[in-house]
Amino acid sequence: ETVAEFREVEKVYNEGTSAPVVRALRGVNLTIPRGQYVAIMGPSGSGKSTLMNILGCLDRPTQGSYLIDGEDVAGFTDEELSRARGERLGFVFQAFNLIQQLTIEDNVQVPLFYSGVPPVKRREAAERSLERVGLLDRLGHRPAELSGGQQQRVAIARALVNEPSLLLADEPTGNLDSSTGQAILDMFDQLHRAGLTIVMVTHDESVAERCERIVRVLDGLIDKDEMVNGAV
Ligand code: ADP
Ligand code: ADP
Repeated sequence: ETVAEFREVEKVYNEGTSAPVVRALRGVNLTIPRGQYVAIMGPSGSGKSTLMNILGCLDRPTQGSYLIDGEDVAGFTDEELSRARGERLGFVFQAFNLIQQLTIEDNVQVPLFYSGVPPVKRREAAERSLERVGLLDRLGHRPAELSGGQQQRVAIARALVNEPSLLLADEPTGNLDSSTGQAILDMFDQLHRAGLTIVMVTHDESVAERCERIVRVLDGLIDKDEMVNGAV
C-alpha cells in the first residue's frame, strides 16, 4: 500500500516574474509505501525543502502529480489541500515550533482546532498523544519549563494527535545534543515499529543510517535511492 507518490514531479520557482527562474525539482519519481522509514539527504539548495513542502501539502507541483493516500493533490482546492494537511500529515521541525504562551496540552491540540474536533475529543486525543511520548505529567506546563528533548517530544505528540498517514520531520535532532538526539531517534524507531510512515530530512549520515531507506537528492533529481539495514 502506497502512502505518498511523486510522478515526474517538477517544481519551478519565479516563472513569469523578473526574478531568475529556478528549477528546484526536475522530474522526481518517488513511491513511499505505508510503514516505511525514509531519510532524505542532499546538499543545501538541492531541493529537499521543496520536496518536503510538496509531500506536506504546503505546495503543489508545477508539473507531474503528487498522490497522498491515492488522491492527486493537483485537483485539490487550497481548502482541500489544507484539510489534507490537517487530516493526513504530521510535522516535526528542528526548532520545535511550539507556542510559548500555550500549555503543553493546548500545543498538542493545535492541529485539531482546524478540523472542528469538539473540545472533549481534543483533550482526549492530546492526552493519548502525550502518553505515547511519556509526557502526560506535563500537561499544564509551558514549553519554556521543559528541556529541549522534552519540547521535541511535545512536538512529536502534536504531530501524532491527528493520527497522520505520514510524519514529516526536518532535522528533528538538529537543535539537540547527541544523547538527547539519540532519545528522539529511539522514539522514531518505536513509532516506526508501531507502523508509522516517516520521512525525515537530515544532514547527518549516522541519523540517516537508522532509517530503512536513504534517498539522496542532487540538483533537483534523485541521485541515489537505497534500502539500508537489511530492509527490503
Ligand atoms: P538547508 O537545505 O541548508 O536547510 P534551506 O532549505 O533553508 O537550506 O534553503 C536552501 C536554499 O534555498 C537557500 O539558498 C535559501 O536561500 C533558498 N530558499 C529557501 N527558501 C527560499 C525562499 N522562500 N525564497 C528564495 N529562496 C529560498
Ligand atoms: P534544500 O532544502 O535542499 O536546501 P530547496 O528546496 O530549499 O533546497 O531549494 C532548491 C532550490 O530552489 C534552490 O535553488 C533554492 O534557492 C530555490 N528555492 C527554494 N524555495 C524557493 C522559493 N520559494 N522561491 C524561489 N526559489 C526557491
